[in-house]
Amino acid sequence: MRELLRKNIANLVPYSCARNDFEGEADVYLDANENWRDFVGEQGRNRYPDPLCKQVRKALDEVLGLPFANTVIGNGSDEIIDNLFRCFCNPGLDKAIIMSPTYGAYRVFADINDVLVGQVPLKADFSIDFDGLEAFLQQEKKSGVDEGRSKLLFICSPNNPTGNAYPIDQIERVCSLFDGITVVDEAYFDFSSTESAVSLLSRFPRLVVLRTLSKCWSLANARVGIAVANEAVCKVLISMKYPYNVGGPSQELALKGLVQADGVREALATTLEERKRVEAALPLLPCVVKVFPSDANFLLVRVDQADAIYHYLAQKGIIVRNRSRELHCENCLRITIGSREENDKLLVALSQYKEI
Ligand SMILES: *Cc1c(COP(=O)(O)O)cnc(C)c1O
Repeated sequence: MRELLRKNIANLVPYSCARNDFEGEADVYLDANENWRDFVGEQGRNRYPDPLCKQVRKALDEVLGLPFANTVIGNGSDEIIDNLFRCFCNPGLDKAIIMSPTYGAYRVFADINDVLVGQVPLKADFSIDFDGLEAFLQQEKKSGVDEGRSKLLFICSPNNPTGNAYPIDQIERVCSLFDGITVVDEAYFDFSSTESAVSLLSRFPRLVVLRTLSKCWSLANARVGIAVANEAVCKVLISMKYPYNVGGPSQELALKGLVQADGVREALATTLEERKRVEAALPLLPCVVKVFPSDANFLLVRVDQADAIYHYLAQKGIIVRNRSRELHCENCLRITIGSREENDKLLVALSQYKEI
């Protein structure tokens, strides 16, 4: 892994914050230049939070089975994606491989970090193009090292916006083919019945799995994302992140959310029932051409006129995502599964849609 790192990161002497220097309990903390008084009247808001999010990670271990020693918490998974670029990709030189259509953030963070994007598009049925991937990697081997190389490969499973998850043996095959860091984004894992790539970590030390509390765990507002990775990779991610990247209130919200596991699972069951109901109802509407199968909490729906229907719904106060400009997604809307009432409003509005 070390040879994949940017030199400045491999040689980094990390910032050492007060909360890192001293671990344990004390009576008097005069080490961090904090104000001794808490004005907002909540416990400890005058104090810096735990930089390592230890309680949250302990809860993630207990509730989700993500091993404590293998997790790093980010300010949303978005922060972790950005940090992976900053750890591994030399700006203006190295590449990241992206399989379009997929989560837009990968490309945006690549652009921000001046990292080139290598495209290995999904096939029209949204499956991984293994021939294309092998050809891409083969081609790259032929070019010289001075030309930079692919350091990161992003697979989103279940994929946003297409909704399909990839079987674990396909994820494993990608890990075997690619000699850089394979990032498997499992933001929608909870809604699928596929096996998690976390089970591959012991055999593939260059694998990073991303999870988030933003979707199934109902905490999008708290900004808590999780990297599950080999301990050496975790160490690097910790060395270069903002020292206090996850605020105390967010850590507390994460803890509060994770003890609600039973409630979350109940809501998940309802979401899955609703997904089934909406998936069955949509194809009966004249404006719907196709509903793609989904392992996530949204449906990709091909309609006859995506732009017109998007605006029609918006004008009725119903906002969906127009994905019709994405590869293989002509005339497609991405529709989140909401509450039963919200889904009914969507279905009624679509059934009243008259083509113009
Ligand atoms: C929503 C989403 C995330 C979550 O990002 P956070 O920053 O954790 O809120 C990550 N990946 C994908 C593919 C998503 O759709």
